[in-house]
Amino acid sequence: MDAMRSRPACILMLVLVALTACVAPAQPAPARVETAPLPSRTAPTRPAASILWATTKLRGIDHVSARDLAKHFGLKAAWTKGEAVMALSDARGARFTFEGNQKDFYFDGLRVFLGAPAVLHKDSLWVSQLDVLKIVAPLLRPANHLAALPAAAPKLIVLDPGHGGIDPGTQNLKLKLNEKTFTLDVALRLKKLLELGGWRVLLIRDKDTELAKDKKTDLLMRNITANRAKADLFLSIHFNAAPESIAGVETYSLAPQFMNSAGDDQGDEMTRTAFPGNRFDYANLLFGENLHRAMITGLKVPDRGYKHARQAVLRMLDCPGVLVECGYLSNDAEARLIATPEYRQQIAEALADGVTDYAATLAALRAAAGPEAAKSR
Ligand SMILES: [Zn+2]
Repeated sequence: MDAMRSRPACILMLVLVALTACVAPAQPAPARVETAPLPSRTAPTRPAASILWATTKLRGIDHVSARDLAKHFGLKAAWTKGEAVMALSDARGARFTFEGNQKDFYFDGLRVFLGAPAVLHKDSLWVSQLDVLKIVAPLLRPANHLAALPAAAPKLIVLDPGHGGIDPGTQNLKLKLNEKTFTLDVALRLKKLLELGGWRVLLIRDKDTELAKDKKTDLLMRNITANRAKADLFLSIHFNAAPESIAGVETYSLAPQFMNSAGDDQGDEMTRTAFPGNRFDYANLLFGENLHRAMITGLKVPDRGYKHARQAVLRMLDCPGVLVECGYLSNDAEARLIATPEYRQQIAEALADGVTDYAATLAALRAAAGPEAAKSR
């Protein structure tokens, strides 16, 4: 926090930063909630290791060389910016761009985060094998994971307007803005758009109310509500907070088992836990990538990245789910924009595009695989 700021501003920033975690800090995993598994929804968690990557142990974990990735996917590996950044390209241009010691990389121009930073070693960059299996390879070749993707097109979409009632979420006290107001407004707008698109939509809340007095139960109730409704897709809508200068969109899906959450380099017992939501690792990725790409291209805002973490509201789902931070209420300029109905309508339209793109990609993958694939489930 820079010293130049006036005292009231510092107090405001302290309050804002205190409210940074619009997304509740990770809580101990609640007792497993038994929901009747529905065969068509459950998919194998372990990746179909169709590709056995040659690995080298770096920093104690197995890594795959970006040069081997390029060879396998028919891409050309080349250093850019000296020997710090490596691009893997084909006729469409740079498909992947990795940077040494960085968790974020670019896939077709979209900023995505790995679980572990890329490592510079022997004239190449190396990516952890888990990141290759769960993020890098499925982004480029989702068809290789068709067996782990939902067999049917999504019909019921559950929208979760973050916070509500006693929980205002992130607040911009100077502008008197509360996150809970805008998450509900965007969800109501998105509901209309998705119903026009032919989907059935259920809102976790349709007025300014909490689901429970304590945060842990409130978040769990959101999953239970979606699971009981037999949702095919879950989308949690939020607005972010961080030091004032930051603006843009950030998207999350549930981190696969054993992958460190974004912002965490140590890992903890939750890192080793397979949550019910992890049955949908590949669908979470496909949905997350399509949604984040639609938000960045639709709103033309800074790309804060598509990340993986273990938010409570994504852990116990019986369907693919994503949480999107649609902008920063802590950034006054972006907060004033978010406070306008026009911009919130744009956000809802970009979210609707993301859902539409996900469903279209899924349908195209199944169509390309032909009836055989459908029978082989
Ligand atoms: Zn929030």
